[in-house]
Amino acid sequence: MNELIRIYKECLNAGKTERECIRLATAMAEEAGYINLNECISENRELKAGDKVYASYNEKTMAMFHIGNEDLEKGMNILGAHVDSPRIDVKQNPLYEEEGMAFLDTHYYGGIKNYQWVTIPLALHGVIVKKDGTRVNVVIGEKEDDPVFAISDLLIHLSREQMSKTASKVIEGEKLDLLIGTEPIEGEEKDAVKKNILSILKDMYDVEEADLLSAELEIVPAGKARDMGLDRSMVMAYGQDDRICAFTSLFAMLDIDTPDRTACCLLVDKEEIGSYGASGMQSRFFENAVAEIMLLTGHAGDISVRRSLSNSNMLSSDVNAAFDPLFPEVFEKKNSSFLSKGLVFSKFTGSGGKSGSNDSNAEYIAALRNVMDLNDVKYQFAELGRVDAGGGGTIAYITAQYGMEVIDSGLAILCMHAPMEISSKADICEAVKGYKAFLTQMK
Ligand code: MN
Ligand code: MN
Repeated sequence: MNELIRIYKECLNAGKTERECIRLATAMAEEAGYINLNECISENRELKAGDKVYASYNEKTMAMFHIGNEDLEKGMNILGAHVDSPRIDVKQNPLYEEEGMAFLDTHYYGGIKNYQWVTIPLALHGVIVKKDGTRVNVVIGEKEDDPVFAISDLLIHLSREQMSKTASKVIEGEKLDLLIGTEPIEGEEKDAVKKNILSILKDMYDVEEADLLSAELEIVPAGKARDMGLDRSMVMAYGQDDRICAFTSLFAMLDIDTPDRTACCLLVDKEEIGSYGASGMQSRFFENAVAEIMLLTGHAGDISVRRSLSNSNMLSSDVNAAFDPLFPEVFEKKNSSFLSKGLVFSKFTGSGGKSGSNDSNAEYIAALRNVMDLNDVKYQFAELGRVDAGGGGTIAYITAQYGMEVIDSGLAILCMHAPMEISSKADICEAVKGYKAFLTQMK
């Protein structure tokens, strides 16, 4: 268990953006013998049982396949999770100076409580792509001697009016600007601090201000994943929604022998903003990858792809809201998930009368219970909070469109979408065990 948690925390530290997660997962997959699907396509390589391939899109989304003994048309066992997390993105024209202070203007990504992101150490991660195609990877704020950044908040002494505002207005979106410098460059009068920042960027990365137009820079909490609690039973870290499901799925996928049904692990982007875009689950990326694999396993024609997808089983894994005794009013205890009580299954999600939910079939749930029980996996069935307290969506309804069996699963965490989220170490172990059982034994 200790070794698994150590690797999990290392993965969280190395994967603070969707690109970093996919780069890491790709390296781990290749290490485990996975080969790039593009290579197989260009060589027209025949794929057979035991072969391991992966497809990825722009370092943001990835699908891994471990070809099984059975005909692919009979379907796959699929694990899916997302690798994007709520954060604060840098705008396209971000840099400005005001009263001798230089800032980066931002637009937050996903659902955050703005007030939680002020006065904490923040790091800058991402890429800057220059016109000639050169890509610069940026990570500032993670090494011991790196500088960090911050968003300011009003001092309590002058906050009489602010303190009477509702929480959603205390820090408004446009106020989430990142303070990045105060030192003027010598010999300049106007915007001397901003010019100094640009000169530092030029030295560090050889980029100009205009290059920020073609950049993807993400502001995330600085620092590493930590053990939490005197008993060290928990992990406190940024981005566990949904990397706790992504990494446990990945660990399970890399740790199975050739299965009967083809095993698949999907790590996708853009879930936090609706799964749109070429790297989100709504893109045809996954379907296209399956079509290529069908062809390389000797199946021709669209109908094979459709059969394979509709005969598949999926665990759509995303975090669930762990019951919090400090906020019992938003939970209904019998149908809540709890820290350390194992893998969570949710027949349905959604809000306002299960709207937007994939409501999975009783027959599928029964088969899943059987596999979990046979393998001694600890699990719980839960909804996300009280009826009409709020709600949330996942990628389950998207893959369900192929007619496959899908259920929402995942792990319970505290403080979802906060800069630091809290999970249970025991649950992480149960998840890996449960995911392996699903991949290898689900019929
Ligand atoms: Mn999520
Ligand atoms: Mn989320």
